[in-house]
Amino acid sequence: MRLSKMHIKTLREVPNEAEIASHILLLRTGMIRKLVSGVYGFMPLGWRSVRKIENIIREEMDATGAQEILMSAVQPAELWQESGRWFAYGPEMWRVKDRNGRDFCLGPTHEEVFTDIIRNDVSSYRQLPLNLYQIQTKYRDEARPRFGLMRSREFIMKDAYSFDKDYAGLDKSYDEMYKAYEKIFTRCGLTFRPVEADTGAIGGSNSHEFTALSEVGESEIAYCEKCSMAATTEKAECVDAPAEDDAMLPLEEVNTPGTKTIEEVANFLGMDQSRTIKALLFVTYDEEGKENGYVAAFVRGDRELNMVKLINALNIPEHSIEFADEAKMSQATGCVGGFTGPIGLHDCKIVVDSELVGLKNLCAGANKEDYHVKNVNYGRDYEGDIVTDLKLLKEGDPCPVCGAPVKHARGIEVGQVFKLGTKYSESMGATYKDENQKDQFIVMGCYGIGVTRTLSAVVEQHHDENGIIWPMSVAPYHVIVTLVKPEDEEQAAVAEKIYNDLMKAGVEVLLDDRKERPGVKFKDADLLGIPVRITVGKRAGEGIVEYKLRREEEKSEKAVEDAIKDAIAIVNAEK
Ligand code: ATP
Ligand code: MG
Repeated sequence: MRLSKMHIKTLREVPNEAEIASHILLLRTGMIRKLVSGVYGFMPLGWRSVRKIENIIREEMDATGAQEILMSAVQPAELWQESGRWFAYGPEMWRVKDRNGRDFCLGPTHEEVFTDIIRNDVSSYRQLPLNLYQIQTKYRDEARPRFGLMRSREFIMKDAYSFDKDYAGLDKSYDEMYKAYEKIFTRCGLTFRPVEADTGAIGGSNSHEFTALSEVGESEIAYCEKCSMAATTEKAECVDAPAEDDAMLPLEEVNTPGTKTIEEVANFLGMDQSRTIKALLFVTYDEEGKENGYVAAFVRGDRELNMVKLINALNIPEHSIEFADEAKMSQATGCVGGFTGPIGLHDCKIVVDSELVGLKNLCAGANKEDYHVKNVNYGRDYEGDIVTDLKLLKEGDPCPVCGAPVKHARGIEVGQVFKLGTKYSESMGATYKDENQKDQFIVMGCYGIGVTRTLSAVVEQHHDENGIIWPMSVAPYHVIVTLVKPEDEEQAAVAEKIYNDLMKAGVEVLLDDRKERPGVKFKDADLLGIPVRITVGKRAGEGIVEYKLRREEEKSEKAVEDAIKDAIAIVNAEK
C-alpha cells in the first residue's frame, strides 16, 4: 500500500478524555475513530490489526476442532426471560423495542442464543461434544465507558460455547480452551497471567480470567510467588485471623463524640483498628426497581469489604444493591450513620465476615449518636443471618493456599473462560438422550475474548514515547519503506523495487511515497509502529539503504538485497 493513497488521518492533538497510552495512540495514528461515547469505528490500519487478532483466534480455535458460526446481534427478550437473565443482566443490557412494542436486546453475550440452537439441533449423545464459536459485535451499555476500546459500549468479542455429555467432558473442553487461550495471547505478543475469577453475571462454577499485565488495567489480581495461587482480588479467598480464646468481658458503652470513621474511633480510644468492627450499609431493589430491604455488612475494622463476595452471599444481581441512605435506613432498622454496630439492629439482613465469629471483645458502633460499645462478642451479643468470607485480600495478607504473603498486580482482562455446567441447559431445557435413551442435561462451558480490548492491551504493552511498537503478528503492515525524496528518480526506483520484491515474498508493505519532509515521515513511521523500516535516501544510487527495527535503537546500512532478505526473514519468523 502506498501511504500517499491510503485513507489515513493522524492527529497531532488528542482529546483530553484519552488518558492512557493505548487510547491516545490508537486515536493519534488514526486507527480508530470515535462516533459517540464508547462507540468506535476502525479505519484501514486499525481494521487490519483487528483482523490479524481475529485470524490468530480463528486459527487456534479451529485447531481445537471448534466450528465458527455467526449469530445475530439482535436477540428476543423471551430467550433471556427463560434463562432468568432479562432482569439479572440489568441496565448494562442494551434494550430495544420493535415497532410493535416487542422487547429485544442487542446481545451483550450469547449463552441463550447458543443454548437455543443446541436444544433444537442436538438430541443424541452421538452429536456431543461440540464447540461452536463466533467473532461478533457485542453491545453493553457500560456505566462508565472509558479508555477507548478498553471499555466500550460496542465491541468485538470472540465467544465460544462447549456442549458436553458430562462434567468430565466439560473439564476436557475447558482445558482445551484454556490452552488455546494461552497460545492466542502469546501469539498476540501479550505478557499475561491466567487467574481464578468470579463468574459474575454469566454464572457457573469455575472460571479463569486471562489478564494482560498493565498498570492501567482495571483488574486487580493477587498472586503468590511461593505457590501457584493467582486470582482476581474479587475472587481470592482470605484467611481468617485465628480465633481467640480470651474470656468475654462485659459490654461497656463509651462516649466517642464525633468519631464517625474507624480511624477516628480507634485513635480516640487508643486501640488498633483491628480491634474494631466496621459496618457498611446497603439497600436492595426488586425487579421493578423498588426498594425491598436493607443489608448491614460487618468486617473487622482494618479490612475492606469485598463487594463481589457480598453480592454472591446475598445471591442477587450486582445492579440491585447500592449504599443506603443512612437517614432512611436509620428509621427502618435502628442503625445510626457513623455509629452503626451489629447489636440491636432490626429489619435488615445482617451479613458478618467469618473471622468476626472467633474474635473476642471488639469495639463496635452502639447505634446511638456519639457512642460505641466495647467488648462485643459474636454469639453472645449478636448473630449474622449470613456468615461468610466478605474480605478483600490485600497485598501482604497470607496466601489462602500456602500462607506466604501475597502480591498484587494490575491487568487488563482480555479473556475469560467459564464452566457453566447445566445452568442454561436446565433453565432452557437443553437435553440429549444418553446411551440408555435417558434424557440428560447438556453440560456447557463458555469462553470469551475481547478482540478489540486485546488490540488496546497490545498497544498498552508495546509502545514508547514516540508511538506504537507493534509485535509482528498484529502489526497492520510488516515493513514500511520510507522514500526520503520521491522526486529523486534513483531513490524512487530503489524504493519501488524493494516494495515490489517484498510484496512478492508475501510481506505486507507500506511505501511512504508522500511528498513530506523526511522528519515528518520518520515521526509518522515511529508513531505507526511498523516493525521494520527500510529508508531509501542519499545512498540509494550506490545500492545502500538504511535498515531499522522499530523496537531497537540502532540503525544499520545495508545493501538493498540484504535489507530485503533480512526483512523477509524476520517477518517470516515472527508473523
Ligand atoms: P469486565 O469485567 O471488564 O466488564 P466482563 O467480565 O463483563 O468484563 P465477559 O462477559 O467475560 O466480560 O466478556 C468476555 C470478554 O469481552 C472480556 O474478557 C473482555 O475482554 C471483553 N469485554 C467485556 N466487556 C467489554 C467492553 N465493555 N469493552 C471491550 N471489551 C469488553
Ligand atoms: Mg469477564
